[in-house]
Amino acid sequence: MGDKKMDTLERQIILNLKSRFFDIIDTENGFFQYEQLLNEMLSAIKALTGADEITLYVFNVWKQEFFAEAATNPQDLDSSAFSHDLKRWAKKNRELKCLGAEIQGKQIMIPLVKRGKLLGCMILIGEFGSFHSYPGKVFQELSEECGQFFDKARGLAKIASQEKRYKQLYRVTEKFHSSMDMDMVLGEIIYTLQEMYPTFTYYLLLSQDNNNHGDLPIRDLEYDSENIAAMQAYVTGAVQFEDSLQEVRSILYAPLKGKQGVYGVLQVIAPNTMIFPKNEIEFITLLANTAGSALENAQLYQQSKRLIADLQLINETSHRLNSNLRLTETMNFMSEQILQSFDAEEAGFILISSDGSNVNIIQGSTEFFHTKEAESYIQYMKKKIIREKESLFIGDFSLQFEGAGCYKSIMAVPMTQSGVLKGFALVLHSSPYHFSFETFKLLQSLIHHSTLAFTNSMLREELEKMVVTDHLTKLYSRSYLDDRIHQSMNEDHEGTFMLVDIDDFKMVNDTYGHQVGDEIIIQVANLINSNIRGTDIGARWGGEELALYLPGVSLSAGALIAERLVRKVCQITDPKVTISCGVSYWSRGKKDSYAALFKRADKALYTAKNTGKNKVILESAADSFI
Ligand code: GH3
Ligand code: MG
Ligand code: MG
Repeated sequence: MGDKKMDTLERQIILNLKSRFFDIIDTENGFFQYEQLLNEMLSAIKALTGADEITLYVFNVWKQEFFAEAATNPQDLDSSAFSHDLKRWAKKNRELKCLGAEIQGKQIMIPLVKRGKLLGCMILIGEFGSFHSYPGKVFQELSEECGQFFDKARGLAKIASQEKRYKQLYRVTEKFHSSMDMDMVLGEIIYTLQEMYPTFTYYLLLSQDNNNHGDLPIRDLEYDSENIAAMQAYVTGAVQFEDSLQEVRSILYAPLKGKQGVYGVLQVIAPNTMIFPKNEIEFITLLANTAGSALENAQLYQQSKRLIADLQLINETSHRLNSNLRLTETMNFMSEQILQSFDAEEAGFILISSDGSNVNIIQGSTEFFHTKEAESYIQYMKKKIIREKESLFIGDFSLQFEGAGCYKSIMAVPMTQSGVLKGFALVLHSSPYHFSFETFKLLQSLIHHSTLAFTNSMLREELEKMVVTDHLTKLYSRSYLDDRIHQSMNEDHEGTFMLVDIDDFKMVNDTYGHQVGDEIIIQVANLINSNIRGTDIGARWGGEELALYLPGVSLSAGALIAERLVRKVCQITDPKVTISCGVSYWSRGKKDSYAALFKRADKALYTAKNTGKNKVILESAADSFI
C-alpha cells in the first residue's frame, strides 16, 4: 500500500466519522441527553473501526485518575480493568503521539484531546489485525475528532444542567415567595440541594434559634473555635471555604443573607476533597441568598404577627381592666390572661406595704401563692425588687437560690404607680428557660399598662368602704349599716332589723324600663327615710333590696313600723308597687350574732314572698309557717 492510498483511506474514515457526529448532534436537537450522545459516539466509532467493544474513560484532573463513563458493553462500565494502567500512563508521560503503545494485546487506547488538553480516552477492543493495521495518523485524527465531539457533548451537558439548575432556582424562588413559613423555606433549600448534589451533606447553621424544626438538619451557629469559617461567613456575609486534608473533605459556607442581615449559614460538605467548581459555588450562593431573603420575609411576617397578637392582648386587657370590674374579678382576669398567653403555670400579684415589711397576696392570684412553699419565692423576689427596682427574668432559679422549689423559670415585674412601688407580679413555670425574652418584655408592658387600672380598682374598693351613703337612694351603704349594727349589738340592749324587697320588681323593669325602676327604688327609699327617726338606719342592701335597723327598738314596735311602711308603699308609689318585709330582733342576754340576726330576717322575708307578698313576717312567725 502506498502513502497516497493510506491518505485517502484516512480521509475517508475521518469524513465518515465527522458526518456521523454531525448527525448525532443534529438529530438530538432539543432532546439532549449526555449519556445517549456518548453512546452514539461510541457506536459510530465501533461501526467505523470494526472494534468489538469500546469503553470511554473520563480523566479527572483533580484526582489524576480515569473513570469509565460510557461503554458499548454496559458491563465494562463497572470494570476498572484499565484504570490502573491509565493512571500510570497519565502520570508518567502523556506521549499522545505514541498511541496504543501502553495498552497491549487486542486493545488500543485512544486519548481524547482538545487543544492539547487530556479529557479522557477510549479503549477499543477487537480481533488483532482488524483496526490494528490502521496507520498512526488515523488514530491521531480519531483522537482529536472524538476529543472535540466529547468536549462538545460535555459543554452541552453543562448547559443543560445549568438550565435545569436555574429552573430549580426559579421554582424555589417562586415557592419561597409564596410562603411565610420558615420551616418550609428551610426545608425547600435542603430539598433542592439534595436533588442537585446528592453526594453532598448539608446543614443549616442558624443563629438564635429556639424553634423546633422537625427533622431538618439544623445546628446552632455558635462562637466556638471549630467553626471559624462558618462564623466568618456569618459575620462578613461572604462565602467561605474550609478544606480538610485529614478528613478528606471540603466545606463551603454560604451565608443566608437578606436585606437587613444574615440569618444563618448554609454548610455544604463535599466528600473526597472535591474542590467546588466555580459555577456550583455561584449556584449555591444564589440559592442561599434567595433563602436569606425568604427567611427575612418569613421572620418579619412572624414578627409582625406576634406584635399584633401582643398588642391585642394588651389592648383587650386594658379594656377589660377599665370596665369597672371588682378587684378580684380584675385579678382573676389578669392571671388567666397570663397563664394562657404566656403559657405559665402560676401567676400571682403581691402587694408590698409602704414600709416594705409586709406582703399581701391579692385575691385572683393562683392557689400556689397562698401556700407555704410560695413564701420563699415571694420573700426573695420582694427583697430583690425593693433593692433593684427592676424586673427579674430568671431562667433557672435553682442556680441562684438553693432553697428554690419546683419552679425554675421566673418573671417578676414591679407594679409602680407614680413612682411608688405598690407590689409586683410573679409568673412561674417549672421547666427552666421556659419563657422567652419576648414574653418577658410583653409581661412588662402588660403590667405597666394595667397597674393604673389595678390600683384604681383597689382605690375604688377602699373608697366604697369609706362611702357611707348610697348614690341612688341616699340611703346608707351596706358597709355602714354593717358597722352600725355591730356597734349597736355591743352597746345597746335590743334592736330590730328588717329586710325589705320590692315585689315583682322584674316585671316593673320589664313594663316601664330600668329608668322608672330606679325611680321606684328612690320612692321606696324616700318613704323609708321619712318614716324613721334620726337614730334609725335605712340602708340599701343591694339592688332593689333595702334594709332597716332600729337600735333600741323592740320587736313589737318594729313590727308596727314595718306594717306602716308596707301600707304606705302600696298607697303612694307610682307606678304602684308593693314590698315584702322580714323582721328579726335581738336582745342582750340571749346569745346572738349579726349573722344570725340577718339569717332570721332573710328567712322571714322568704316566708313573706311565699305567702302572697305585700306583707310583714316576723322572725318567730316565719317558723310557724313551715
Ligand atoms: P320578688 O317579688 O320575688 O322579689 O320578684 P322580683 O321580680 O322583685 O325578683 P327579684 O327580687 O329576684 O329581682 C329583682 C330585680 O330587680 C332584678 C333586677 O333586674 C332588678 N333590679 C335590681 N337592682 C336594680 C336597680 O338598682 N334598678 C333597677 N331598675 N332594677 C334593679
Ligand atoms: Mg323583688
Ligand atoms: Mg330581690
